[in-house]
Amino acid sequence: MRSSTKRAATGIILAGGLVLLRPGTHANSAARHQIDLVGRRLRQVAGRLRGVSYRMRGRREMRRALIVVDVQNDFCPGGSLAVENGDIVASRISQWLASGDEHYERVVATMDWHPPPGGPVPFAHFSDNPDYATTWPPHCIQGSAGADLHPNLSLPADAIIVRKGQAAAAYSGFEGHDEQDRSLAELLRSAGIDSVDVVGLATDYCVKATAMDAKANGLSVRVLSRLIAGVAPDSTERALDEMRAAGVTVR
Ligand SMILES: [Zn+2]
Repeated sequence: MRSSTKRAATGIILAGGLVLLRPGTHANSAARHQIDLVGRRLRQVAGRLRGVSYRMRGRREMRRALIVVDVQNDFCPGGSLAVENGDIVASRISQWLASGDEHYERVVATMDWHPPPGGPVPFAHFSDNPDYATTWPPHCIQGSAGADLHPNLSLPADAIIVRKGQAAAAYSGFEGHDEQDRSLAELLRSAGIDSVDVVGLATDYCVKATAMDAKANGLSVRVLSRLIAGVAPDSTERALDEMRAAGVTVR
């Protein structure tokens, strides 16, 4: 009799630690102990949920933008200044945006947007004998197919285009302006952005310059390493080191 009461009172213990007492039984000390354990466990779970909720709130309060740097045809295979895997990076950026893994308040795409060589603007950015460090073959000429965004890149309809390089080399997106003539810093500030992810082409030049300027503008900056590609391995490694030293997170 005693053992059957005990069995009945102990009840059923479910996977989550919940004890169900059968109706009509009295809780003996074993069952009370179980109930205490369950109570403690519930309080732990509640505490953990509160922690998650604080973290989620913290994440919501962080207003992040994605800056997609110069994913243009001329910087992709087949272009006049092709970066290896530029087209793959374009696809990956599209997949990343479609995944929704990160919420962006704004998506900004920068575009190199140079005047044609031999035009009225003196332009030391281009050379017939480029050194691929400070001078380059003509690329991203305003209105040319080479200046178009790469077809693998799918941006949200409300993405903001920032054009740069109309009168100077302009490696950094922060030298560019949108169609309303707002600078990149201005449009991020007006959207309350405090943190940016920088992706695109090329790691060792325009991505680096843009990430460094973002940092200099007081933003929290991450560079997403799967979504960038560089001109050359050495300069790419150096660029990543420089960015890290400036407080940019390379993820
Ligand atoms: Zn350029």
